[in-house]
Amino acid sequence: MKGFLFFFAKRYIAGTDKLDAIEAARRLNALNISAAIDNLGENVRNASGAQAPVTEYLGLLDEIKKSGVDSVVSLKLTHLGLDISEELAAENAGVIVKKAQEYGNFVWFDMESSAYTERTVDILLALRKQYPNVGVAVQSCLFRSAGDVKRLIEHRAAVRLVKGAYREPPEIAFKDKKDVDANFSLLMRELLLKGSRTAVATHDTALIEEAIRFAKENNISKERFEFQLLFGIKRTLQKRLASEGYRVRVYIPYGAEWLPYTLRRLGERKENWIFVLKNIFD
Ligand SMILES: Cc1cc2nc3c(=O)[nH]c(=O)nc-3n(C[C@H](O)[C@H](O)[C@H](O)COP(=O)(O)OP(=O)(O)OC[C@H]3O[C@@H](n4cnc5c(N)ncnc54)[C@H](O)[C@@H]3O)c2cc1C
Repeated sequence: MKGFLFFFAKRYIAGTDKLDAIEAARRLNALNISAAIDNLGENVRNASGAQAPVTEYLGLLDEIKKSGVDSVVSLKLTHLGLDISEELAAENAGVIVKKAQEYGNFVWFDMESSAYTERTVDILLALRKQYPNVGVAVQSCLFRSAGDVKRLIEHRAAVRLVKGAYREPPEIAFKDKKDVDANFSLLMRELLLKGSRTAVATHDTALIEEAIRFAKENNISKERFEFQLLFGIKRTLQKRLASEGYRVRVYIPYGAEWLPYTLRRLGERKENWIFVLKNIFD
């Protein structure tokens, strides 16, 4: 089954090696699109397992520098040991962020399920005291995100606004898609007006058009924000936005641990699973 799903994973991931991701970044760069490369992995349960991604990210930063591609990196704190301890994840992230700073590069922290939100923001803000080259994703599905956005704006931290890819309980999250979208719109406007570095990370064309309109109405220049999209999704839109002079960054995942990421992507649209099932029974 895993082998079969890899066929579908290939739509969403660049490959299993960092050089696959570098090559994908190079192709996107040729279209005026920047990259954010992510080494896939999450929920590591022992300290030695959390060391391997640190080594991988340091090598990735070397390769980005050596190849000259226009790319930052993106990571998950549970890949770096957040399930073991906050200290371990912060220490491991610090090693990567420090090296990125030496290279003039930037690190995005992905946001995982709500069990990690508080600790992810805390680690980010602690690291930012020493390293300003780090930002974090915030999910519009969570009730708490308005408070997180406010806190992050106060600290002038970079924010990547997303809808949220994890199943969350109704006590803490909007369940209705239209509420998630409305909250995205609200937080997006706040970030565009007051944020220091805002990434509008969605494939939702209505929200993208709204961001463009809102930026024009409020004289927010194209340099003050960027659109971020995922590798393999809405490629025509990625190219169109870049050709219109907007900053566009594509998130490029790679690595052997591609299954959880692929399952999240497939789960985002019922058409994706219909496509998979059709291929099983074809
Ligand atoms: C750059 C980037 C980084 C992200 N980082 C995080 C993160 O750190 N934490 C987190 O929880 N989530 C993250 N996400 C995922 C995000 O939370 C959503 O789950 C995902 O983007 C789908 O929502 P949407 O905003 O595209 O809107 P939707 O309303 O879900 O989708 C809009 C349209 O996009 C297309 N589309 C969306 N998803 C797919 C898909 N999987 N396959 C094919 N077409 C699709 C469809 O045409 C759909 O109608 C990230 C997303 C992006 C773009």
